[in-house]
Amino acid sequence: MISQRGANKTALVTGASRGIGRAIAERLAAEGYLVFANDLPARKAELTDLVATITSNSGRCEITYCDVSDAASVDAMAQDLLAKAGRLDVLVNNAGVRSVHLADDIQPDEWDRMFAVNTKGTFLVTRAFLSHLRSNGRGRVINIASIGGKLGGPTETHYCASKGAVVNFTQGLAREVAKDGITVNAVCPGVIATDMGRTHLEDPETLRKVLEKTSMGRVGNPEDVVGAVAFFASDDASFITGQSLNVDGGIIFH
Ligand code: NAP
Repeated sequence: MISQRGANKTALVTGASRGIGRAIAERLAAEGYLVFANDLPARKAELTDLVATITSNSGRCEITYCDVSDAASVDAMAQDLLAKAGRLDVLVNNAGVRSVHLADDIQPDEWDRMFAVNTKGTFLVTRAFLSHLRSNGRGRVINIASIGGKLGGPTETHYCASKGAVVNFTQGLAREVAKDGITVNAVCPGVIATDMGRTHLEDPETLRKVLEKTSMGRVGNPEDVVGAVAFFASDDASFITGQSLNVDGGIIFH
């Protein structure tokens, strides 16, 4: 039985239509949070299915659309959420994009897209709720970064740089808002079997290299990531901020 740590609390999960975001939304709903599941309007069918799944398990979930890289759209979403729910307790910045190119081949637009969603999106959604969290005197911001943001990675320098910036944003903001009762932490997944992680899994040679460097000898599932998020969201993590926790089956040991 999962504990009801989210009773009377509201959480927002961005990029929740599939993969890790969907699993986080389901876990937080199972803990009793009223979950607002965000994604792009094109993901209406997937989000409707998520709401049906959560509701059938006696959880509560509402859909909230926006493109996290668009400031006006983010601000409108935040106003709408606060009007409906009255409060936000936990923000999970999960929405992300990734592509695979050698550095020589990364077009400037693709570099910008990576930073627009992964880095600016994290900033914009956080900024939209900061004054509300401050006025509550309590809040949890959890950013889904990546071990790539710490290690770097060949053929994904743009992605890794954007996630490294998320790790740094997490640290800086944690210092800025700690005395306001807000904690800011990051979860850094390793290779997780989702649509995004597929490029690691489809090519046998790439998969072999991943498994070789992963102590546990397997890739992760979205469900492997949700416990760390639920912990950072909880009162058990009230004295922890500015951290970036690797959830990677034993690739990085610091
Ligand atoms: P995923 O399956 O590709 O899901 C990403 C989600 O983000 C999708 O629902 C996507 O919507 C949404 N999204 C993309 N751009 C958006 C935008 N502008 N506004 C709102 N939503 C947007 O990826 P995942 O593997 O679950 O990854 C989730 C997070 O974990 C990402 O931040 C990723 O970088 C990070 N991560 C993943 C891995 C891995 O191996 N899978 C490893 C380390 C870190 P669409 O379907 O419309 O694109």
